[in-house]
Amino acid sequence: MDNLLFNKILNRVQKPARYVGGEIGSIYKDKDQIKLRFCFCFPDSYEVGMSCQAIQILYHTLNSDDRIWCERAFMPWFDMLKEMRDCGLELYALESKDSLKDFDVLGFTMQYELSYTNILAMLDLSNVPLLASQRGEKDPIVACGGPCCCNPEPMADFVDLFFLGDGERLNNDVCDVIIRCKEKGLNRHETLLECSKVNGVYVPSLYEVTYLENGQVEKYHPLEGAPMPVRRRVELDVDSLPYPVNPLVPSMQVIHDRPSVEVLRGCIRGCRFCQAGFIYRPFRWKKANTLCNQAYSLIHNTGYDELSLLSLSTSDHPELEPLIDGLLSWTIDEKVNLSLPSMRVDAFSPELAEKIRKVRESGLTFAAEAGTQRLRNVINKGITEENILSGCKEAFESGYTSVKLYFMMGLPTETDEDVCAIGDLCQSIVDLYYSLPNRPKGRSVSVSASVSCFIPKPDTPFEFCGYAGIDELHRKQKLLREHVCSRKISLSWHDAETGEIEALLAKGDRRVGRILLNAYHDGAIFDSWGEGFSFERWEKAVRDAGLDLRFYAERERSFEETEPWEVVDYGIRKSFLKREYMKAMNAEVTLNCRQQCSGCGINQFCGRECFAND
Ligand code: SF4
Repeated sequence: MDNLLFNKILNRVQKPARYVGGEIGSIYKDKDQIKLRFCFCFPDSYEVGMSCQAIQILYHTLNSDDRIWCERAFMPWFDMLKEMRDCGLELYALESKDSLKDFDVLGFTMQYELSYTNILAMLDLSNVPLLASQRGEKDPIVACGGPCCCNPEPMADFVDLFFLGDGERLNNDVCDVIIRCKEKGLNRHETLLECSKVNGVYVPSLYEVTYLENGQVEKYHPLEGAPMPVRRRVELDVDSLPYPVNPLVPSMQVIHDRPSVEVLRGCIRGCRFCQAGFIYRPFRWKKANTLCNQAYSLIHNTGYDELSLLSLSTSDHPELEPLIDGLLSWTIDEKVNLSLPSMRVDAFSPELAEKIRKVRESGLTFAAEAGTQRLRNVINKGITEENILSGCKEAFESGYTSVKLYFMMGLPTETDEDVCAIGDLCQSIVDLYYSLPNRPKGRSVSVSASVSCFIPKPDTPFEFCGYAGIDELHRKQKLLREHVCSRKISLSWHDAETGEIEALLAKGDRRVGRILLNAYHDGAIFDSWGEGFSFERWEKAVRDAGLDLRFYAERERSFEETEPWEVVDYGIRKSFLKREYMKAMNAEVTLNCRQQCSGCGINQFCGRECFAND
């Protein structure tokens, strides 16, 4: 890299710290001593990427192998991107400053659908051909992992292989195969064929897809003995997985500016809208003792004064009280703040509220998701209005004065009454606060409701449903706005247009790759940011591809239809999803996995009973 040019560019962009590397925890190796160069690529800004736990874990596990050097790259922000394009500077890895095209493997993480165009932009900026079919022997292998791989198909044309499921050992296993293939002198195709034999690897070029006249997928045809479907990798013993207690410490402020310990993987609840709750099953947890030790090391190795517990539902941890007690035994004295997202409102006991209040004074967040009990039953949220109000009461009596509630709009079976009930529930919380004699004196309450647009996702019981549509969501947003009159309640929305494109990319098939390519060539990048997203651009990209946006995003799907994501197997059986869908339509709830197994199928997939040793 031309250092003079690089310094000139850095002087002209906002936040140059995004582009220089050199953070505490960075790993450098001698290029001549290693056998494989891997670049972990995060398709969003540095601040978002460095907040993602996957990067910390995989950076650590890949670099623990002496034969591999794993570096990092992020999507340059608009100003840097323009400078790089103007000067012909290729995208480079932060550690070595070498171009991404010099690497053996580029490993992108697909954390959310609206980052897909950034993957194309990062390849383009590295002068790596966008289409997998156009890459030659000298080009890197482009791999993708992360939760969106549960429907990899919209990205299938651009990706050489997908890592499905838990990555801690999978990424290293694939690198091991690639090293052996290099040593044997195998070509690109032969190498991908070898990789496809690793449990949890999907190589899309080894599958042909045929379509029915009505546009639906007819069948997947595996080639050259490729497995069908491809099973995701599951690590059953998360307690013993390597965890980076010497993580990278960003040298600028990032979105989640604190280290995290991963408390749980998977979820017992079965909320029917929640893709993460199904694709990370079975429920696995780390022992309180392990977590306390990891937390202590993390804080002392990094110098942070805040720690986050990461999980889908922290309050379901079987050793929650010992865990909190163990952490509080030193965090209070050392003035370390504990951040406890994902606490269920029905698990918020007065004792726990009191303990947590000792270290935390900001507001509380509750995921109510829907305004009426009927709709909460439809989505299997499993909490009642009474749970929510009593959780708020405990919190107010412990000194809290602000509550944030998360809701969704556009849920299956939702009526206008359900929408207005969001406002009514917020009002009940305001009224509750003022009815309490022992509320915090002289302070007013603030209730904020964040209302997102529900997007039906693969591997959930609502995969058969369509997105509610932009006009309908706008109508419902207006209805709710008019229904709420208290100034103690603030409402915020997610954008309905963005949701439509997210639904397209979440449920699309391989042909949707044409849309992605059109959108990218027309300037689409940073689609999850207001600065980047243009609905008109996406509409045009769909039109130019000769496809139908509503066919993908809004169409209801029959149980018999072959879905594009059936080429991969995340362990949740379709028969279970159908049963759950039918129960949802009748507003019937399903008990959580600890109370009763509902036969989702993951236990057969993993060869063990989920709660046999719990
Ligand atoms: S197999 Fe049963 S207990 Fe295990 S995750 Fe599925 S529903 Fe829950």
